[in-house]
Amino acid sequence: MSLKMKRLPEPMSEDTRVIPPGSTIGILGGGQLGRMLALAAARLGYRNHIFEPQEDCPASHVAAHTAADYADKDALARFADAVDVITLEFENVPAEAVAFLAERVPVRPGASALAVAQDRITEKAFLNRNGIGTAPWEPVSKIEDLENALEALGRPAVLKTARFGYDGKGQRTIHPDDTDLAGIWDAFDGKSCILEGFVPFTLEISVLAARTIDGRLSTYPPVENRHRDHILHQTLVPAAITPDTAAKAEEIARKTVEALDYVGLLAVEMFVTAEGDVLANEIAPRPHNSGHWTIDACETSQFEQTVRAICGLPLGSTAPIGPCEMTNLIGAEADDWQALLSEDGVFLHLYGKAESRPGRKMGHLTRLTGKRG
Ligand code: AMP
Repeated sequence: MSLKMKRLPEPMSEDTRVIPPGSTIGILGGGQLGRMLALAAARLGYRNHIFEPQEDCPASHVAAHTAADYADKDALARFADAVDVITLEFENVPAEAVAFLAERVPVRPGASALAVAQDRITEKAFLNRNGIGTAPWEPVSKIEDLENALEALGRPAVLKTARFGYDGKGQRTIHPDDTDLAGIWDAFDGKSCILEGFVPFTLEISVLAARTIDGRLSTYPPVENRHRDHILHQTLVPAAITPDTAAKAEEIARKTVEALDYVGLLAVEMFVTAEGDVLANEIAPRPHNSGHWTIDACETSQFEQTVRAICGLPLGSTAPIGPCEMTNLIGAEADDWQALLSEDGVFLHLYGKAESRPGRKMGHLTRLTGKRG
């Protein structure tokens, strides 16, 4: 090639620069996800700083902590000055706070992806627009909408608040014998809602996907999720699905990150039907409880992959090291730590929460289920 023809490299924009080890990662939210994210980032040589209103939260034990309200602009500005990139462990960060921070420092994933994940109506419309199947659904903002939607979708159907629902909170199944629709609707307090047709699924699965700002993408194999009292109880790896179903599920996750122009890691929760159809239920724009097994039984943990994705590093291998199951330790279940520590092939994670309450996630364990030795 002649000297004349030789192209100079394109100058990289501020946004596509690699954020190298030694930099500081800002994390919005300070729960167990933030804690495990900070631990993974620290292993790669990053510093971590969380923004979380709650004092003495799980992540504050392992990272610098700004304890302030999301409406506190001075605190947000100081936080932005102290970090090189911002990510989140909690999707319900107020949009205004995210917009304020994004003017000062890259926020990954960005405001538009968050907006999709924060509202079930926007989320389902986004998924369907991109050719991804979901339960049939209708928006509901008054009792007449609910009556019409029930006509259209039939019973049973699931009524959910469009925003701020988690672990089964803010939702109710409407059964064929439920007659007091007005009473059901009143309990939703006029909130924007979505009614979904009931999916008679055989399995619930989820897929994690990570994407960098320059479009590199990687998915994890689908895993199977079992719930108890609306809270994730166990994740089984691998999911008991056919290769064809697994390919459909991974394709949904891939399409989701691409259509969102997503930077970071997300989880897509899905239903598998008896016919082998895969329907998307929910997008979590952050590391996810069903990905905790990756810390101990995968070549790259979901937390490390998040760091790699937001910092523009090479994405890591998502190959499982072997079959395993992850079990959440809810409330007093974590008190059995001594017995759990005595078991071979069990990896125990405790979140450092001072107070144990029924229904509260206190820790988890990963148990290797393959043949050993
Ligand atoms: P979500 O808050 O949307 O993740 O729903 C919590 C759980 O409720 C899911 O994991 C399912 O077990 C169940 N569920 C939610 N939506 C539906 C639906 N449309 N049909 C059947 N089950 C559902």
